[in-house]
Amino acid sequence: MSDNPFFEPSTLVFELPPFAAIREEHHLPAFDRGMADQLAEIAAITSDPEPPSFDNTVVALERSGALLRRVRLVFDNRNSSDTTPGLQALDAELSPRLAAHQDTILLDPALFARFEALHRVRAELGLDAESLRLLERHHTRFVRAGVRLPAEGQLRLREINGRLASAQAAFRQNVFTDTRARAVVVERAEELAGLSADAVAAAAVNGRALGRDGSYVLSLKNFTNQSELAELTDRELRARLLAASVDRAVESNGPLAIELAGLRAERAELLGYPSHAAYVVADETAGTVGAVEELFARLIPPAVANAQEEGRKLAEFAERADGVTDFAAHDWLYYSERVRQAEYSLDAAELRPYFELERVLHDGVFFAAGLAYGLTFTERADLTGYHPDARVFEVFEADGSSLGLFLGDFHARESKGGGAWMNELVQQSELLGQRPVVVNNLNIAHPAAGEPALLTWDEVRTLFHEFGHALHGLFSAVRYPLFSGTEVPRDFVEFPSQVNEMWMTRPEVLANYAKHHLTGEPLPAELVERMAAAERFGQGFRTVEYLAAALLDWAWHTVPAGEQIEDAREFEAAVLAKAGLGDPLVPPRYRSTYFSHVFSNDYSAGYYAYIWSEVLDADTVRWFGTNGRSVRESGEVFRAELLSRGGSVDALDCFRAVVGRDPEIAPLLSRRGLDG
Ligand SMILES: [Zn+2]
Repeated sequence: MSDNPFFEPSTLVFELPPFAAIREEHHLPAFDRGMADQLAEIAAITSDPEPPSFDNTVVALERSGALLRRVRLVFDNRNSSDTTPGLQALDAELSPRLAAHQDTILLDPALFARFEALHRVRAELGLDAESLRLLERHHTRFVRAGVRLPAEGQLRLREINGRLASAQAAFRQNVFTDTRARAVVVERAEELAGLSADAVAAAAVNGRALGRDGSYVLSLKNFTNQSELAELTDRELRARLLAASVDRAVESNGPLAIELAGLRAERAELLGYPSHAAYVVADETAGTVGAVEELFARLIPPAVANAQEEGRKLAEFAERADGVTDFAAHDWLYYSERVRQAEYSLDAAELRPYFELERVLHDGVFFAAGLAYGLTFTERADLTGYHPDARVFEVFEADGSSLGLFLGDFHARESKGGGAWMNELVQQSELLGQRPVVVNNLNIAHPAAGEPALLTWDEVRTLFHEFGHALHGLFSAVRYPLFSGTEVPRDFVEFPSQVNEMWMTRPEVLANYAKHHLTGEPLPAELVERMAAAERFGQGFRTVEYLAAALLDWAWHTVPAGEQIEDAREFEAAVLAKAGLGDPLVPPRYRSTYFSHVFSNDYSAGYYAYIWSEVLDADTVRWFGTNGRSVRESGEVFRAELLSRGGSVDALDCFRAVVGRDPEIAPLLSRRGLDG
């Protein structure tokens, strides 16, 4: 195994991982050695006869674990983006071991004693602001991990963390497996009436891929309301598709959700918090449970009223147009689309020819990054990604110097998890001399051979959104790895990505990318206006389905320790009904049993973060439009004060440095139609 490509830092440009050389069997030995190396490095710190200093303790800890970090960043992306049964088994095996490794470091009394000693005299160490913050953040991490608990408490904590890691990995795999198992099979093309020709073709390709040649397979996307529901005219099929979606992993993940919530509550109690949510938000910009609940209380009633109004309108339309007297959840998106066509003369299919992937990417997303930040992009066909679809771009500054690498992996495949996300493959830090390599993963259907990939409006938004995360990683200019790029509070991390969505509708950007893929003709201005009007219709639904999911997450994680939840579905129903979100016509964007954000990723008691961040986002978009500076100057301020800072400065201080005051909620209320 001396030829394991993880063992040495990559010699490729920007330390791009040497994907061509990495094989599945390289991961485990690299994890094994990576963990052992880091423990040896920690032992060297704690056995240092010199008294603790910032360098021999704090910086030494920051430097430790280089090999582990290398393999972990590659593995995490690979396992979500191009997984195999072998990688999934490895995930199940490694998750509890990595949790234990983390505990071994954060619960190490000798290591903490050195941090404690430094922390006590931190004001006298002569540290610059970023270094002082590093010491404080590490100290907080030890305390929050439970280093001050007595031995038996720590023992229980380790057990809980190990079991949580295993259960989260199991939850993740159940979602992956059941999402595929419940894909809806359709035997005859006629049943797919309403779907676009390329969607029908994609369903046929899916059928072949799954060994059902001649059948059509509608694969499920992560969230509840499948996008095909907007198009399928066959009401029975719509009902079947929605039922397949909402019933995902009920048997397997219902009990796991209960167990995960229970263990998290117990851990919070051990650490002195009344609930897991209280433990989580104490370290977020929200700060308290009350602050989050106040936002819910402010948003839920007007959003529900809007959704009810929309629902009435849709039900009336359905009855008038088609004699439907029992309007149901699986009809909502379909009649939304019909109403949009009738009232705004807007047909979603009419738009897609104007959103061809390459144009949206180069003339939209990259173009906007040029306008705001002066960036340019060159595809590096000579550099190999981890999959043929993962393309590598070099990113250049306005002065022509090189900034980092951006990988774009835009298409769906059987081996990829659902949704869209950004990962870092190399994290920028001055300390380690590393520069950023980031990747965006999306799930855009592969077009048929020789055909262009035409996007929906939502997919265009996702492309801009994820690229906002990418910029956050690329612009990182911090000294310490702990603060790199997106290492910011969870309820802040969606803010830069949401801000980046604004470019998609800026007139100069839209005009540059929204061109008919055959004729090059620009998207007609009146179509843009109709689109904007149609966007407002449907805000009630979108806000409520999001809030219902956010509230579910919240409810699971505000249950006090020891309170036993009997049945996941009953718990859900009771929580939603109590909050006034129980309308079966608008199911939550995620039901608990496939809510991967909170049960297998890092968003437990954190899904509220999207709308929490959107307060900052809407306020910042207003600032971009009203601050009197040019777009380029505004971009530079946003980059210098916020995007480049990562976690090295308090998150809300970054916001204040840009906008000049505390955030205000009015722009969000207006955007979502919640201001009456
Ligand atoms: Zn995001």
